[in-house]
Amino acid sequence: MFHKILIANRGEVALRIQRTCRELGIPTVAVHSTADSQAMHVRLADESVCIGPPPARESYLNKAAILSAAIITGSDAIHPGYGFLAENAEFAEMVAAHDLTFIGPAPRHIRMMGDKIEAKRVMAKHGVPLVPGSMEAITDTAGAARAAAALGYPVLIKAAAGGGGRGMQVAREAGELAERLALGRAEAQAAFGANALYLEKYLDRPRHIEMQMLADHAGQVVHLGERDCSLQRRHQKLLEEAGSPALAPAERERLGAQATAALAAIGYRNAGTLEFLYQDGEFAFIEMNTRLQVEHPVTEMITGIDLVREQIRIAAGEPLGYGQADIRFAGHAIECRINAETPASFIPSPGRVEAYHAPGGLGVRVDSALYAGLLVTPFYDSLVAKLIVHGRTRSEAIARLRRAIDEFAIIGIETTLPLFRRIVDAPEFAAGTYNVHWLERFVTGNA
Ligand code: ADP
Repeated sequence: MFHKILIANRGEVALRIQRTCRELGIPTVAVHSTADSQAMHVRLADESVCIGPPPARESYLNKAAILSAAIITGSDAIHPGYGFLAENAEFAEMVAAHDLTFIGPAPRHIRMMGDKIEAKRVMAKHGVPLVPGSMEAITDTAGAARAAAALGYPVLIKAAAGGGGRGMQVAREAGELAERLALGRAEAQAAFGANALYLEKYLDRPRHIEMQMLADHAGQVVHLGERDCSLQRRHQKLLEEAGSPALAPAERERLGAQATAALAAIGYRNAGTLEFLYQDGEFAFIEMNTRLQVEHPVTEMITGIDLVREQIRIAAGEPLGYGQADIRFAGHAIECRINAETPASFIPSPGRVEAYHAPGGLGVRVDSALYAGLLVTPFYDSLVAKLIVHGRTRSEAIARLRRAIDEFAIIGIETTLPLFRRIVDAPEFAAGTYNVHWLERFVTGNA
């Protein structure tokens, strides 16, 4: 087991990882930018190192500064959290080259899944169904037009290096394809520094359903069930559930078995998530995330398995020690991503937190690094808290969520809490019949 773990992240996920390390008896090193010197992840760490000025590229994305911090503190492993360097194969290689352990998958798997076209090719080869689309990068408009005509409009233009819902453009008809391609290319270049694009059939009412996977070095692979992340705005998840209100147990088993076989075939290890769109009873793979996900707590709540602990144990070479039959699913869990944003416009709302009161009670979990007096700066992602509830049934979880939102007080900055309060009362949410396009209409009053 590791002697000291450096956590290359900030905010709630840095705290989340610290908590597990503490339970495992492993000291932690926090890294922080000058903007985060008063942050909770720094205040609660065993040690901390300032790695640069506020802009992420000079601090939380500064590979050399993070590696130096690991070496001078005598850390033997680095946990990247999510975002920042979590899916950066080059960073994972640098960590290994300095005789440290990267708590995550092998660099070749990060690279393979980081190219979304390659990821689809690999999954297809191992029998996983895909969303219909081009299996090569688009090289010219004429080729794209032929591919789009074959798929049938509308089509979705996506970035091969994509993530966070950026770089996606819908072309509803042939006449708008060229313009949408240009927009997609520019956005992909700006967001990812790589402009390769591909096409997919645009599905009109899919759900987003993903499978949480764990794999050890001995080749044992298990799934921890699915998460339903269909509540999205601009292709970004806002609320997630485990399990999916749309899935029967037999479908979970079918999808889980397929995902397990595919990861075993490629020799994957550590935690990962296979994402699918689900429509008319069919699953279609869209991408794989080779890291811990923001929404991992809903899986933890229904399985009782600490995913960060499993990541650390696997990275240290320990076997999982259990099989698929040992994993039990209990009750229902829901997570709300509370962002420091104005609810109507979703414009970031930085500022000082004047007062803070988190809800509690049976089945309520809050993962947040907020405290009264903290200055929320505009430099980083606007996620400031995750409210997670667990109930024996979905309706119990919803009732618990409603009262937990009412208890939650974050004063001084605007947050998306009021939006969640509205969602919880929406009949479509209670019925569980929503798809990925529903929330967009709901926030604009067209649901
Ligand atoms: P990213 O990596 O940017 O998160 P994904 O490929 O995971 O992109 O897709 C994000 C979301 O975009 C999906 O959850 C879904 O809501 C929407 N989406 C992606 N592909 C399609 C598609 N072919 N048809 C309709 N919606 C899609």
